[in-house]
Amino acid sequence: QVAREALDRLVVDVPDFPEPGVVFKDITPLLADHDGLTAVVQALADAGRDADGATVVDKVVGMEARGFILGAPVALALGAGFVPVRKAGKLPREAHAVSYALEYGEATLELHRDAIAPGERVLLVDDVLATGGTVKAAGELVAACGGTPVAVAVLMELGFLDGRAVVGDLPVHSLAVI
Ligand code: IMP
Repeated sequence: QVAREALDRLVVDVPDFPEPGVVFKDITPLLADHDGLTAVVQALADAGRDADGATVVDKVVGMEARGFILGAPVALALGAGFVPVRKAGKLPREAHAVSYALEYGEATLELHRDAIAPGERVLLVDDVLATGGTVKAAGELVAACGGTPVAVAVLMELGFLDGRAVVGDLPVHSLAVI
């Protein structure tokens, strides 16, 4: 469909970034293209709707940093609020923290304790699902607040890394499996 075509045309493969052996998916040309950006935001937002098109989430959580860029317009499209999951030490108030392994390196993610109210339903948004560690950590942070992650929406899923297995039961909506 339109979103898939935009991904194929506008995402650039960068070999050996940020380190040798990694092929980095650069989405900045996609973000710079109005039609492409519109198509992928609409497609990601569908992950937060039921079959009748009604929004089924209260909050969209985006993971630093590209999850911010995609998650905020997805939240607006759904009539939901946006909540950032940030890298360690960036949030100014009391936060939950989870450490996890990345495709390259290790990281800690944090979420303000009061950012998700108990019982709220949450859509997790990011650009790439690789090993699944980032999405798993974000889901754990939402759960620590008392919220319920209901789905994951990503532009691209690196199928050979089998991140879905790490994410577990949460439905993963990826616009492209690579
Ligand atoms: P994971 O935790 O291994 O699933 O890695 C996913 C996180 O790393 C996401 O936040 C992505 O933004 C980032 N990431 C991993 N690989 C790539 C890539 O090839 N392009 C852009 N971001 C990537």
